[in-house]
Amino acid sequence: MQLTDKTALITGAAGGIGRAIAERYAREGARVAVADLDLAAAEATVAEIRANGGRAMALAMDVTDEAVVDAGVERIVAEWDGLDIAIANAGIQHIAPLHSLTFADWRKVLAVHLDGAFLVTSAALRQMYRQEHGGCLIYMGSVHSKLASPLKAPYVAAKHGLLGLCRTVAKEGAKHRVRANMICPGFVRTPLVERQIPEQAAALGISEEAVIRDVMLKDTVDGEFTTLEDIAELALHLAAFPSAALTGQSVVASHGWYMQ
Ligand code: NAD
Repeated sequence: MQLTDKTALITGAAGGIGRAIAERYAREGARVAVADLDLAAAEATVAEIRANGGRAMALAMDVTDEAVVDAGVERIVAEWDGLDIAIANAGIQHIAPLHSLTFADWRKVLAVHLDGAFLVTSAALRQMYRQEHGGCLIYMGSVHSKLASPLKAPYVAAKHGLLGLCRTVAKEGAKHRVRANMICPGFVRTPLVERQIPEQAAALGISEEAVIRDVMLKDTVDGEFTTLEDIAELALHLAAFPSAALTGQSVVASHGWYMQ
């Protein structure tokens, strides 16, 4: 097992990519805090992890609420005596062309991705800097951290912004033995993606099949979705990597959609 007795906070871990990482980390021996807006779903994820012999706790957490994020990290430290890995994963999408995007929707998407990642970073670093062995931050970026698509301005802007945050944490954190890296998935079939298939079809005036084939997977090398297992594997690799040779990096897993 690669994460024996490590403690991990994963935001947005009640479902989708965050849940897959939580389950994988628990199988590798980590104690996992499953933090999400949706406490009932987070508790269901924790129940599943425990049923499989893992260790986990559910945390009700809106990542845009500073006091709640701080309290969540304090609880992890109180119960598990430290925080080794923090993954800023919670995210939302909003499909609209720029000329009709409201300021409120722009701010909402940026708040969850950027404010949320900042608050998780800040709370995690305060703890990790106190620990002799430091820690590891992982940001859930996207291929949209590297390139743009129409109809997703706030998401693209937020995911590009996360790259800057990740690189800054890598620079500031190094002397405290803190590493920071980012995962940039291509399309993974989670609720976040399932919701946008009909939305994009309506916005672009094409069928849902065409959205998948001609928009989402058009530039992959093989027309395949990236899977939850692919991203969980990468998250494990980044967390378990033994040295600061791997810090400040953004690793793209997208079936060749974006090649850097
Ligand atoms: P998802 O919708 O399946 O899961 C997102 C989770 O975040 C949900 O459980 C939701 O309740 C939670 N959440 C939303 N707002 C929150 C908040 N304010 N505080 C705490 N939790 C909150 O989505 P997903 O596809 O698993 O996405 C996870 C991350 O991966 C996101 O950052 C997303 O941008 C990123 N990502 C997804 C894909 C993809 O194709 N699915 C691709 C690239 C990047």
